[in-house]
Amino acid sequence: MKGRPPAPGKMKGVWPIPGDLRRTVPEKGKPGSFMEDRSDRRHCGVDLYAPVGSKVVSIDDGLVLEVGTFTEGEVVPYWKETFYVIVEEDGGRFVKYAELETVEVRVGERVRSGQRLGRVGSVLDPEKIDDDSPAYIRRLQEEGNVSMLHLEMYSSRPEPSDLYRGGNWFGAGEPRGLIDPTRLLAAISKR
Ligand SMILES: [Zn+2]
Repeated sequence: MKGRPPAPGKMKGVWPIPGDLRRTVPEKGKPGSFMEDRSDRRHCGVDLYAPVGSKVVSIDDGLVLEVGTFTEGEVVPYWKETFYVIVEEDGGRFVKYAELETVEVRVGERVRSGQRLGRVGSVLDPEKIDDDSPAYIRRLQEEGNVSMLHLEMYSSRPEPSDLYRGGNWFGAGEPRGLIDPTRLLAAISKR
């Protein structure tokens, strides 16, 4: 039973990392911000830095649409294996929670606002980052920001694309339906 979706104005919207007291959304142009220019790629979401193991919860009520592998070490040398969850919110948004070390929900499961989806993982393997790694990766390591929730938001179901890898977009334009989540998250962070 899916039930009647609440009106958008009634959406609860909780911060996706309950233990995160900083609640910082990277501003435009800053590391980890939406559509950050990473020279050969651009960033499809926002990075909310948090320690490995931090709980990640669903922002709003919805349905778990997809669970899968987000990064794997065989693809890029400095990557570790992490996972993602896509929640189709009752209000119509599709939210992708990525760079998780564990996932605690299944496809087809209904989730409530604030319900745990999994825990923050770390994509980057510090021992495998070297001078050949992209500049933004080396900077993350220098700043100690190697674990985070990578969050993307869409107005329609995210589609697979060869231009999309590890939360980055390698082509012109951007993924279909991609939304900038910065303002919404900034509003939630003040609640
Ligand atoms: Zn990211």
